[in-house]
Amino acid sequence: MITIKKDNQLISLHIEADLINTSDTRFDLQALKKSILTQLQNVYNKKIGKYDLQISFSIRVLKHIYQCSPKKVLLQVVNTIPGNNPAEADFKGLRIKLNKHYVTDIMANKNIRTIPHEIGHLLGWEHPHANAKYESVNLSAHPLEKQLTETERQCNLMSQSWYAQKAGVPLNKAMELTEKQIELLFLNEHKLSLNKNRHLNYFLWWKKIV
Ligand SMILES: [Zn+2]
Repeated sequence: MITIKKDNQLISLHIEADLINTSDTRFDLQALKKSILTQLQNVYNKKIGKYDLQISFSIRVLKHIYQCSPKKVLLQVVNTIPGNNPAEADFKGLRIKLNKHYVTDIMANKNIRTIPHEIGHLLGWEHPHANAKYESVNLSAHPLEKQLTETERQCNLMSQSWYAQKAGVPLNKAMELTEKQIELLFLNEHKLSLNKNRHLNYFLWWKKIV
């Protein structure tokens, strides 16, 4: 469940999520939850250009799949992700799968970028650059995202890590967002098209593949 309220330049976002581990490795999910909350606060609770972003998350730690709420976002630790990527967002970002091999680094706040980046996809943002192409614009992104400058792309939260690295920007500095991305968030919210305004229960089969 994502709630967005806008009052002039003040934007309040609230996201409700479930957190579950379906991998074969045990993790302290309360500790993981704590790191996730800190990392999200650091990126999403600040001024972005003229906008004042305030975000709150409530995360419920679950033991069993049947406890998952179809109306909440699902954060799910899994055994593998294609290409051994740290994470992957599917069902329009409503489920964020976390690769178990990266969870220790996320818990230790060594990896502070993966979670905020994936939440960015949930908020409707695309990578601003093209696939595997440096100094490029993502032609399938929204016109507002295409307006980012090359400097903005290099230090943007929504760029893939290789892009920032290639530009020589340390990953902990490549966490910026722009006014254009915030404006896209309003636009999607206004059109009710964020996640195509669906919840996980739209995807009738979702529980079968978790
Ligand atoms: Zn991404």
